[in-house]
Amino acid sequence: MERKNLWQTYSEAQIRELEEVNAQYRTCLDEGKTERECVKKTIELAEAEGYRNMKDLIKAGTKIHAGDKVYMDYMGKAIVLFQAGTAPVEEGMNILGAHIDSPRIDVKQNPLYENEGLAYLDTHYYGGVKKYQWLSIPLALHGVIVKKNGEKVEVCVGEKETDPVLVINDLLPHLGARQREKLAKDFIDGEQMDLLIGNRPEDKEENAVTRRIKNLLKERYDVEEEDFLSAELEIVPAGKARDCGLDNSMILAYGQDDRVCAFTSLFAILRAEEVARTSCCLLVDKEEIGSTGASGMTSRFFENAVAEYVLLNEGVEYNDIVLRRTLANSKMLSSDVSAGFDPMYEDVYEKRNAAFLARGPVFNKYTGSGGKSGSNDANPEYIAQLRQIMEEAGVNFQTAELGRVDVGGGGTIAYLMSVYGMEVIDSGVAVLGMHAPWETTSKADVYEAVRCYEAKTSLQKRDAMGCGIPDFIASLFMYHVPVLCCSAGHR
Ligand code: MN
Ligand code: MN
Repeated sequence: MERKNLWQTYSEAQIRELEEVNAQYRTCLDEGKTERECVKKTIELAEAEGYRNMKDLIKAGTKIHAGDKVYMDYMGKAIVLFQAGTAPVEEGMNILGAHIDSPRIDVKQNPLYENEGLAYLDTHYYGGVKKYQWLSIPLALHGVIVKKNGEKVEVCVGEKETDPVLVINDLLPHLGARQREKLAKDFIDGEQMDLLIGNRPEDKEENAVTRRIKNLLKERYDVEEEDFLSAELEIVPAGKARDCGLDNSMILAYGQDDRVCAFTSLFAILRAEEVARTSCCLLVDKEEIGSTGASGMTSRFFENAVAEYVLLNEGVEYNDIVLRRTLANSKMLSSDVSAGFDPMYEDVYEKRNAAFLARGPVFNKYTGSGGKSGSNDANPEYIAQLRQIMEEAGVNFQTAELGRVDVGGGGTIAYLMSVYGMEVIDSGVAVLGMHAPWETTSKADVYEAVRCYEAKTSLQKRDAMGCGIPDFIASLFMYHVPVLCCSAGHR
């Protein structure tokens, strides 16, 4: 299969547009470094495009008609957007899904302590991280502290030029001889990964460094140490997304798994004009720890949101079978990042079935590991439809597996959506250094989704099964780009 280098296909005008899309993407990455921040940014962008909060419509008894745009967030950590189509809702939706949580280090519930004049926050890492990568780099603290009275205090330290940053220190090489003999997985113990946050005592008494920290917390956020009990504080690499490469061809940023798929999916749905089938964009939490929890994909929140959406449709008499048909007739691009081929680690890939940077969005018929275990295995009938849509939209794509057969593997949310009996395929964007504090993508891969959308020639086509599929899905698809990777499998 030929994989074109996207850069060799673009005109000057396309390159300019590519830079615009990537500038917007970088801004979204900078403002969305946690799942909560991503939901906030999504709502801001969606409302600017005329999306309304479904909760308000439900309260007011307002019905939805073709062309209406609505969203529903879930606990501020996951969100679903719908753009109503002209076709009956039970014909199904075109769904773009991705996750907005990323590997990171979380603060424990009782975190604050002092040892020999150094104040720390105790931590527990989140997702499949290589622990040693997080040592001795500037870190930022993002999240919320919720007080007993329900007041929510937002915290973000380490991102502004004038902010201090925080750090988890590594051992100096001079004293690291024994450490270096350890296996990488044991290189640093999870309990040694505490965040250094202070060194200046308040007074001459005992524990004066933590006392000063507590006073600062009181002064700046009006919180007590006890309030850590009900806080959700995430430690992420400090700093902005940057162009990467002497030729500015790539992006180096934190959390591109899976925000490169989430934000491109979002851009795509926000640009949609008229659609035949309902367009849906689903951005979920908790993928990196197995999609568990109320805001993760194993929760019923998506199904509940679709039920609410069906109920809001003017002229639709809601019942269980309408909801089931809506879900079963849907078609989804479940987007997550794919492991980009890295020549430095050639031996873990099988080149003919690997994803390459700047070769376009990636489709993964299956993910999983060790005999496709745990994978959603997309139907060739569906893949054939996607090939047709992509070709008509002039989009270059590639197919891949996550590494050599017996080397490892991964999984994403596709298999959880397949429980509804809908067509779904893993798709995504190729990433180098996935799950590292700083991950690399190609700006061409980010942009290719845009190209796909703009190449659309008509609003609706009929597929072989007789279901209307707007070209729009092709664009979505691109954006999503996808992936294969990660989550469940990474663990
Ligand atoms: Mn991942
Ligand atoms: Mn992922």
